[in-house]
Amino acid sequence: MATVHREGNLDLLNGKVAVIGYGSQGHAHALNLRDSGVDVEVGLRLGSDSWAAAEEAGLTVKAIPAAVQGAQLVAILLPDHVQKGVFEREIEPNLEPGAAVLFAHGFNVHFGEIKPGAGHDVVMVAPKGPGHRVRQLFEAGAGTPGLVAVAQDASGNAFDLALAYGTAIGCGRAGMLATTFAEETESDLFGEQAVLCGGVCALMQAGYETLVDAGYQPEIAYYECINEMKLIVDLIYEGGFSYMRHSISDVAEYGDLTRGQVIVDEHVKTTMKKLLEDIRNGSFARELIAEEDAGRPRFTALRRMAAKHPVEQVGQELRDLAGREGLLGQEAHGVH
Ligand code: NAD
Ligand code: MG
Repeated sequence: MATVHREGNLDLLNGKVAVIGYGSQGHAHALNLRDSGVDVEVGLRLGSDSWAAAEEAGLTVKAIPAAVQGAQLVAILLPDHVQKGVFEREIEPNLEPGAAVLFAHGFNVHFGEIKPGAGHDVVMVAPKGPGHRVRQLFEAGAGTPGLVAVAQDASGNAFDLALAYGTAIGCGRAGMLATTFAEETESDLFGEQAVLCGGVCALMQAGYETLVDAGYQPEIAYYECINEMKLIVDLIYEGGFSYMRHSISDVAEYGDLTRGQVIVDEHVKTTMKKLLEDIRNGSFARELIAEEDAGRPRFTALRRMAAKHPVEQVGQELRDLAGREGLLGQEAHGVH
């Protein structure tokens, strides 16, 4: 079992912390740090939509260079694909000597896109949850688990500084796990590609298409292969696979145990290993960065195509129906 860290020394955060970006993570970090007694400034683009929201929440907001100047720690909470440009133009030239640089995801540092100078601690505190949960749970006196890592330890104190930050945003209350930039980045990319987003959506869509191609009604196919996923995942989240299997019928369980491995067979595992290899050797990152640099031609086309798939229309119709008549409401719907 990995070591779980519960508490950092908040006295280590005795200088100014600049939170750059006020989106999902940025707003949660800034507000939680402030409520933990840390001196926070939010750094934003001039004209940013978030400027007023951050000020209304009682935070001090400055342009990015001014927020970075004088900061002991700079938390870069911008979308990953814009971080490199903003770092090089507005953050790096204004960093105090010895200031720490913090990330909530390892991508840019791990793949060498951002390389802070040798005099700076480079750390990560990655809450394992969306930003609004990080704030919500903190306000309720609880916290979101977090991953903590050090890429560069200039001060000799970088890990303790990261633990202090994680504690101030509430991750200590749920537990902080030590990791590396490589482990966090590679496992995160693999999870979203092979399982959580890519794998699971493709599986649901393939199931839907198989039933529709065989002549079943699209609404029935949607219901079975897509809508019901939430109910199953909720059970797994609550008590693991065995708890889910305990809740479904014996017929469903027998089908699950005899047929699951037939669908996700050795061939799928071989493909998963290939995806992981592409992540580890940097070829996925190079592809993504080139796509970004070219203005996202493939990304945009794929996004448009996915949104036009008939499955999306059927889903929308069923959700509208559920809104009116409760037909697909969870209460009216058991797991079969
Ligand atoms: P986000 O998309 O919510 O936006 C961040 C903010 O950055 C925006 O609200 C805006 O204030 C600013 N911004 C956007 N474009 C900009 C630009 N071109 N120049 C300057 N500022 C700009 O980002 P997020 O989801 O909070 O992600 C921030 C970091 O946290 C990323 O590294 C991400 O991987 C990581 N992370 C996110 C989550 C999550 O649940 N969203 C969870 C864990 C880690
Ligand atoms: Mg991810």
